[in-house]
Amino acid sequence: MAGQMLDGKAIGSQIQAEVAEKVARLTAAGRRPPGLAAVLVGENPASRVYVGSKVRACASLGLYSERVERPSDATTEEVLAVVAGLNARDEVDGILVQLPLPPQVDEKAVLEAVSPAKDVDGFHPVNVGNLVLDRPGFVPCTPAGILELLRRCSVPLQGARAVVVGRSHIVGKPVATLLLREHATVTICHSRTADLAGVCREADILVAAIGKAALLTHEFIRPGAVVVDVGINRVTDLEEARRLFGGDEARLAQVREKGSTLVGDVLPTAMWEKASRYTPVPGGVGPLTIAMLMANTLAAYERRAGASA
Ligand code: NAD
Repeated sequence: MAGQMLDGKAIGSQIQAEVAEKVARLTAAGRRPPGLAAVLVGENPASRVYVGSKVRACASLGLYSERVERPSDATTEEVLAVVAGLNARDEVDGILVQLPLPPQVDEKAVLEAVSPAKDVDGFHPVNVGNLVLDRPGFVPCTPAGILELLRRCSVPLQGARAVVVGRSHIVGKPVATLLLREHATVTICHSRTADLAGVCREADILVAAIGKAALLTHEFIRPGAVVVDVGINRVTDLEEARRLFGGDEARLAQVREKGSTLVGDVLPTAMWEKASRYTPVPGGVGPLTIAMLMANTLAAYERRAGASA
């Protein structure tokens, strides 16, 4: 059985087009565009790439955006002052603090300083509470994107057995909470779960958010399951790529020519052979994360405009 790909790239573009259309209507009516501020502390190259693509996405959809940078030796107080300044600015609807912060900066204090009304990443304890209590609030972008993908692809959730591997605050826990909200029967697994393969094999919907290249292999997937692979891992070794991707020449060529390729937390050949539907890496969950950040920024704008009307 060959599984069908869930095209996160196409659905991410669809969501972005919907946001762009709403923003165009706002600005055509003479209103200011929604605004997002990204706070970047230090020189982490991956963080720079992520912030760059978020700022570019804003520009292409007509949102206002700005990047506030501080050096890698910034103190907690300096970063808190940046956040306080952004909380007070009217044209900033969403604030994202790019993680990880340098070790001397108190990450918890910084995330808690972001106004819950501007917390488009959904990391503030007030929004975490709202999510758990089924109240309106901001849901972290990756889990929100996963649910949007499942919904738009008409994957049945009510009564489905869902297994989430990973219990991080950013992905595992919120995605499990969202699946529960949609009436799935949810099991959360982690590094100390006994018989992980056996539990995963019970899943109609298997979500892998672990951060370990191709950890979940054939024996973890029930035939016909829907597999959502959140992991992003870099593979540089050609022999390893051959083991993971079988005869996928394009991937092998990538390793030869560019020095690496990306793999998720699920063995690609296992997903292709056993799942009914699956998200590829790259092009699955990743594009949805950024689309939901744009959607959350627009939602923050609308809620703030509603609150001040
Ligand atoms: P994390 O390190 O915070 O959490 C990993 C979780 O996996 C932990 O809860 C841990 O218990 C579990 N785990 C670790 N080893 C395990 C094992 N051997 N068996 C079972 N469970 C195990 O990671 P995270 O922030 O949740 O991210 C997970 C992955 O998703 C990473 O690869 C990350 O890069 C990726 N990610 C992708 C996006 C996206 O937009 N596509 C967004 C966020 C994270």
